[in-house]
Amino acid sequence: MKNKQSVKELLKANAGTEVSINGWVRTKRGNKQVVFIALNDGSTINNIQIVADAEQFPEELLRKVTTGAAISVSGTLQESIGSGQAVEIHAKTLEVLGEADPEKYPIQPKKHSLEFLRDNAHLRFRTNIFGAVFRIRHAMAFAIHKYFNDNGFFYLHTPLITASDCEGAGEMFRVTTLDAKNPPLTESGDVDFRKDFFGKATNLTVSGQLEGELGAMALGKIYTFGPTFRAENSNTTRHLSEFWMIEPEMAFYDIYDNMDLAEDFLKYLLNYALDNCLEDLQYLSARLQEEEKNKKADERSMELIDKIRFVIDNKFERISYTDAIEILKNSKPNKNGKFQFPVDKWGVDLQSEHERYLVEKHFKKPVIMTGYPKEIKSFYMKQNPDGQTVAAMDVLFPQIGEIIGGSQREEDINKLMTRMREVGVPIAGMQYYLDTRRFGSAVHSGFGLGFERLLLFVTGMSNIRDVIPFPRTPKNAEF
Ligand code: ATP
Ligand code: MN
Repeated sequence: MKNKQSVKELLKANAGTEVSINGWVRTKRGNKQVVFIALNDGSTINNIQIVADAEQFPEELLRKVTTGAAISVSGTLQESIGSGQAVEIHAKTLEVLGEADPEKYPIQPKKHSLEFLRDNAHLRFRTNIFGAVFRIRHAMAFAIHKYFNDNGFFYLHTPLITASDCEGAGEMFRVTTLDAKNPPLTESGDVDFRKDFFGKATNLTVSGQLEGELGAMALGKIYTFGPTFRAENSNTTRHLSEFWMIEPEMAFYDIYDNMDLAEDFLKYLLNYALDNCLEDLQYLSARLQEEEKNKKADERSMELIDKIRFVIDNKFERISYTDAIEILKNSKPNKNGKFQFPVDKWGVDLQSEHERYLVEKHFKKPVIMTGYPKEIKSFYMKQNPDGQTVAAMDVLFPQIGEIIGGSQREEDINKLMTRMREVGVPIAGMQYYLDTRRFGSAVHSGFGLGFERLLLFVTGMSNIRDVIPFPRTPKNAEF
């Protein structure tokens, strides 16, 4: 394939060659004699400098070279005398492909707030910050596939439309072709979903896990990587209504194998980011430090790259829910009433403020918490011999709280069915799931990593809406 040259390639090329480049103008400056254009094409955070002799080009043409315009340039690559770049292009031809009226183009070369850029999400890719974020997003997606492929996992595509609603009761988006104004009704007056497209009520999936388990119980090790949907009304900086999840599922893995995999996987991804996205990370780091320069030293967050290294270099602390409750009960913020949700007894669900206290203040490293009360976890988790807890594991990260949720799965059909009856999961519709326990059942485990939570950590961005190209949140599905 004949490849057009990118800014990334040209910046590494040798001076003296004839080159051509397309891109968008970031800035233009200069005088009557010479014009300097900073050009970016998205391939790298760095711009290439175009030097144009003002007398060689019509004034009319140069006037159209404004921030945001698409241009095409050819010329000679030369060593740059200016600081900041090794090479620059001395333009021989210059064409404006698409103008960007400076009166109307929203992305001007000045600092825009992240909120403003969210309202202009269709154009925010053209800023340094979002260029960096979405190049890193790509690199992390690639690294995820690479890790699993290199380790013998198979990528399994689980359905987005599902008829099982056992996991996300009340949190699912319905998929229907029925007329909302005039749906067919049953004799008792309920909506008659037998007349719906699939002959039953269907929803968008909240997780590919159940189907993932079926694949793992034949292929051995699988992973899913796709969008999931949650109609929960949690308007936080860590929740999206549509987010991407990675869900590995492994036959013959117990909870300890599962923890080892989760830790190794996360460290691999962070190393990959350092090895492949350093310039973008350095840009995001500098931006964060600039953002926080007015904060007191002890309120500033750890420098981004140090923070990533810190997680790579430390063994994750492994702790039981029961021990964590004791630590939290006796913690300063709990005693001083600083927690929004006080921790008073064994059995309470942990909030992100508790998770972050354990990680950031108490252990000062990532934590894998296991042995949760069965009441606050899903029906499919392996029941521990104590009758109270299940073999669940959550990985808790600084800044984020829960980044991974997983468990060893209950492989004993009798225990599983008893639990399903206790919590009211309709067994009739779950026969396909139970069949893996009826035939050739075995210990197996898996977990779910929220892709955008990972990206929050890697990029240091503080709002999850800023690490997905087009965020969907309650009351917002713009673009
Ligand atoms: P939380 O308590 O933070 O809402 P959860 O217990 O609902 O998380 P799981 O059902 O275990 O999460 O989902 C697995 C992973 O998916 C989580 O560890 C998290 O990384 C991610 N995740 C869950 N809900 C969301 C969401 N609404 N938006 C983005 N990521 C999410
Ligand atoms: Mn949730």
